Amino acid sequence: MGQGWRAVLLAAVAVAVGACSGADPGGSPTGERTATGSPTGEARPGGGTGGAPGPSADAPAVAGSPGVSATLHPPARFDAAAAYDTVTYLAEEVGPREATSEAFDEAASWVRDRFADLGYRVDVVDVPVPEGDPDYRPEWGTVVEPGTSANVVASPEGFDPAEPHVVIGGHLDSVAVSPGAEDNASGVAAVLELARLIRAEPPALPVRLVAFGAEEPRGAGDNMHHFGSRQYVRNLPDDHGAVAMVSLDRVGVAAARVPVCTGGTGPTEVRDELLAAAEQAGVDAERCENRASDHWSFEKADIPAARLGSVPFAGYHSPRDVPAAVDVDQLDRVGTIVWTWLRGLER
Ligand SMILES: [Zn+2]
Repeated sequence: MGQGWRAVLLAAVAVAVGACSGADPGGSPTGERTATGSPTGEARPGGGTGGAPGPSADAPAVAGSPGVSATLHPPARFDAAAAYDTVTYLAEEVGPREATSEAFDEAASWVRDRFADLGYRVDVVDVPVPEGDPDYRPEWGTVVEPGTSANVVASPEGFDPAEPHVVIGGHLDSVAVSPGAEDNASGVAAVLELARLIRAEPPALPVRLVAFGAEEPRGAGDNMHHFGSRQYVRNLPDDHGAVAMVSLDRVGVAAARVPVCTGGTGPTEVRDELLAAAEQAGVDAERCENRASDHWSFEKADIPAARLGSVPFAGYHSPRDVPAAVDVDQLDRVGTIVWTWLRGLER
């Protein structure tokens, strides 16, 4: 990969923040969608009690109308309240989403529709997973039977995987016993909110968004977890243009500093850029080392990658991982870091 695009990145952050691109000021999807499976109307936005949160096209951040000068509308902002609604929906309405379960499929269909509603081309890619080890963490409800999970992959219109692009992902599955509000409805919620912002104000590099399947372990060792992201990396063409990857995994538990991690063996520029973006945005963050998320699959392939999140909490991989574990201000801090970084990207 060339490095020239990145050299101007940090210098550009200051310019980009507070600027107003004027792109798609209405913030509405173009209506061009190739995903099939139109929503049935049930469990859709505004559906009343138990209804799913919808795409936040009406969020104040993109409230400018096409008739207003583009220089007047405020820059798009991460809507943490909308993200929290997604956390609540996935954890309470869908519930535990073990990677091969029907609930996972329900969640994947819902995320697919959310991406499609925002105007992305969406591919749902099967991810076969092996049998689990019955002796591995039975308290997490490790599933023994082999099965099939899925990656939900959203690409912008005209996306060319050979061209330089960014991948932002979060795993959609949970361990079997957990509603997975923090782990990892929080990350998926941030991915979906970033997907909205990216449509409203496209960054200089195309961004592909992925809800990964089967991140959680089915046994011990590096070959028994991260199945969705490992398959994604394995299937990248030789001439792929993935120049940066960010994994959002457990991003909602409140902490004084947002953890920004790499696995400790690969390139660190994405981590360093995210830390610089945090400073730019006035959000406290700290570097860390962590291999327990999908960024690790990319780092092992020498793709610059980082993970936001991993603050310890009492409900980890238990039935107590409920929306009350998630802090809307922490979601805001994480979303602001990533959005500041994306806005500063230059080709
Ligand atoms: Zn996780």
